[in-house]
Amino acid sequence: MGDESCAEDPAASARVDGRGGGSPPAALSGGGGEAPALRERRATLERLAGETFDVLVVGGGVTGCGVALDAASRGLSVALVERRDFAAGTSSRSSKLIHGGLRYLEHLDFGLVREALHERRLLVEKLAPHMVHPTPFLLPLKHGLRDRMYMGAGLMLYDALAGRRLAMPRHRHLSHAACLRAVPSLRDDALTGGIRYHDAQVDDARFSVMLARTAAAEGAVCAPAVEVTAFLHEGLRVAGVRARDLEGDTEFDVRARTVVNATGVWTTHMERLAGIERPLLVRPSKGVHFVVPRERIDSEYALILPTEKSVLFVLPWGEQWIVGTTDTDWEFGLDHPSATRTDIEYLLEHVNAVLADPLTFDDIIAVYVGLRPLLGGGAGETAEVSREHAVRRSAPGFVSVAGGKYTTYRLMARDAVDVAAADLPFAADASRTADLPILGAVGLAGAAERLRGHPAAALLRPGRLEHLVRRYGALAGEVLDLAAADRSLAAPLRGAEKYVAAEAAYAALHEGALHIDDVLTRRTHIAFELRDRGREAATHVAALMAPALGWDEATVAREVAHYHARLDAERAAQAMLDDAGSDAARSPVLDLRLTPPPTTTGPGGPADSGPTTTEDRR
Ligand SMILES: Cc1cc2nc3c(=O)[nH]c(=O)nc-3n(C[C@H](O)[C@H](O)[C@H](O)COP(=O)(O)OP(=O)(O)OC[C@H]3O[C@@H](n4cnc5c(N)ncnc54)[C@H](O)[C@@H]3O)c2cc1C
Repeated sequence: MGDESCAEDPAASARVDGRGGGSPPAALSGGGGEAPALRERRATLERLAGETFDVLVVGGGVTGCGVALDAASRGLSVALVERRDFAAGTSSRSSKLIHGGLRYLEHLDFGLVREALHERRLLVEKLAPHMVHPTPFLLPLKHGLRDRMYMGAGLMLYDALAGRRLAMPRHRHLSHAACLRAVPSLRDDALTGGIRYHDAQVDDARFSVMLARTAAAEGAVCAPAVEVTAFLHEGLRVAGVRARDLEGDTEFDVRARTVVNATGVWTTHMERLAGIERPLLVRPSKGVHFVVPRERIDSEYALILPTEKSVLFVLPWGEQWIVGTTDTDWEFGLDHPSATRTDIEYLLEHVNAVLADPLTFDDIIAVYVGLRPLLGGGAGETAEVSREHAVRRSAPGFVSVAGGKYTTYRLMARDAVDVAAADLPFAADASRTADLPILGAVGLAGAAERLRGHPAAALLRPGRLEHLVRRYGALAGEVLDLAAADRSLAAPLRGAEKYVAAEAAYAALHEGALHIDDVLTRRTHIAFELRDRGREAATHVAALMAPALGWDEATVAREVAHYHARLDAERAAQAMLDDAGSDAARSPVLDLRLTPPPTTTGPGGPADSGPTTTEDRR
């Protein structure tokens, strides 16, 4: 399969609903008939209700999207359903590192580190060079010779575990003066010297969407806003799911030979829903990051700062720095984990321990929060729980995959499909994803130069073409096509001028975005890159998405009002001192998809009297 599968062929513009081909730009200007994204969605839901799939994946985070791609590229028929948006769970809220995990060396997890470093190399060099970028880090040393020997040995091992042929430069010891030259913001007495090494960064939310699109290009039917509400059984075997379209609030069955549960922190809940008596236990651990302006920290390098429990990262992100993270148990709702003032104070205290000019609350642009899906339900510090993954055939036709790290999603996916394939009535091929670049990777070299000749390129502001290539790789031309058909789309997004207006339309037409939150938070990162967190941009984004999704004025107003309410709830939550108070302030404003109107019967017609569901059996 390899390169040619996503090179110049039509699959390269696959939408996440599983259909290839670009959409007619006329549709954007109201070309008549059903709105294009709605038409696609209806077709997708009909396929879900009408076909029997070899593999049905539940969950559209990086793991589920990876499973869909792995299975589809083996030639299996695949469907993926995601309750909210792709990457709406943990997969958009990580530290955004593709890394071996330097700190796991301390736990002697050499196998885990080696695997992760191998994946890092594959992603940087072959699978996703448009999305995974090497970044230099500085590890400041506190205690002179002792630290230098201990940490230096660790980094020597880190380089060695990465393999003989290095994908990025080896580590280098730096003197105290060299560290301060590279990172003038460091306090003179915070270090005695340092070590520079490299890891990689990824736009986690976009990466998951591009995985789903690549799976779609390989034939998978991928649908966001479809929730699994129960499981279908044939005897002891799981035979599919009952699903609810959260946009139309209709219900239908999806039949499958095997179901893969890739729902991260929802894994245990899904296992229970499937009737598994002793469910796989996943423990949610909360991680908080905050974002500050780039000019507040003067540094050529990302920073890794050891803390008493784990490490703290200071990571470059465009015109900002991301600072994180915490690692504490979370006992409240899983949909909208929230930060407390205490979490933010913890991060401030630790980062300020090394900064000459300390950060304050006023510097903080935004805060985001994720839940780690840690394996096991035991007590003890969450930072001590292994980051390895588990794949379990919990019942015939039902496999759960959980734990792990963003970096190792491909291995998790491969292992899950290997186990699921044992339930198929034929032998499945071996995994091919080690040789299958993600959409946008093929043709990356020279893409900016080639696109300078595109009719819309001259309409863009300086630097925006490079911005598009950085975000879409070789697919940037598709965004430009929209701007060529409607020149107003070449303008900057109002309220978030770094982005091009066409990006919001493209997200609705090609990337499965169904609400402005999907665009403001995950297709772009306006929600955490701008001080108003996208309050102003929300109106323009809604107007740009409206033609693709057939929104009337009332829907546009509802989208904007809901987004503003979400921002208010988040700010209120971040002023609270404990998780209970923070959750009480945040949770009243649910994702719009999670507050649907009353149930009717869906695209598959009335739920038939075939297989029983777990709910029926209770
Ligand atoms: C703070 C933090 C920092 C991290 N940093 C890093 C890092 O730098 N590098 C790294 O390698 N790893 C990192 N990780 C770990 C990594 O982010 C996670 O392991 C990974 O994102 C988990 O992905 P997932 O697909 O398993 O889960 P998720 O992304 O949570 O996906 C599960 C999906 O299942 C869906 N779902 C749930 N119930 C249903 C249902 N009934 N029907 C349909 N869909 C459903 C959810 O909506 C969700 O989208 C970090 C994690 C956290 C929390």
